[in-house]
Amino acid sequence: MSVDCIFCKIIAREVPSEIIEETEDIIVIKDIKPQAPIHYLLIPKKHIKDITSFERTDCCYGSKMILMAQRLAQQNPQVAEFKFLINNGYKAGQRIFHVHAHFLAGSTFAEV
Ligand code: 5GP
Ligand code: ZN
Repeated sequence: MSVDCIFCKIIAREVPSEIIEETEDIIVIKDIKPQAPIHYLLIPKKHIKDITSFERTDCCYGSKMILMAQRLAQQNPQVAEFKFLINNGYKAGQRIFHVHAHFLAGSTFAEV
């Protein structure tokens, strides 16, 4: 837990959020400012700043986030197709420095 981190506070229930799913390692919440009809954040419970800071022992979080995205898609036919996006670093758009994946669905997207 990092004391000044909003996502650590959400995980610790010190800050409210709309929780969609939770496992031992990952929490899924609704984004407070959605960019698509469905916009979730998949957040490892361990405070890891960004992808650059991942250590070998953290690699399970990457695959667990992907498996969580698969589970979210299987639960709801509306989100069979989705975007899974991680911003890494300020210039790439990262604003919260606790690694997280954006799960976006429910509309058409520009190709990147
Ligand atoms: P980033 O720009 O770091 O990739 O994404 C941060 C995301 O977190 C943004 O989409 C933003 O709307 C979302 N966000 C920021 N603060 C909060 C919050 O307090 N609660 C929730 N649910 N989402 C947040
Ligand atoms: Zn954190």
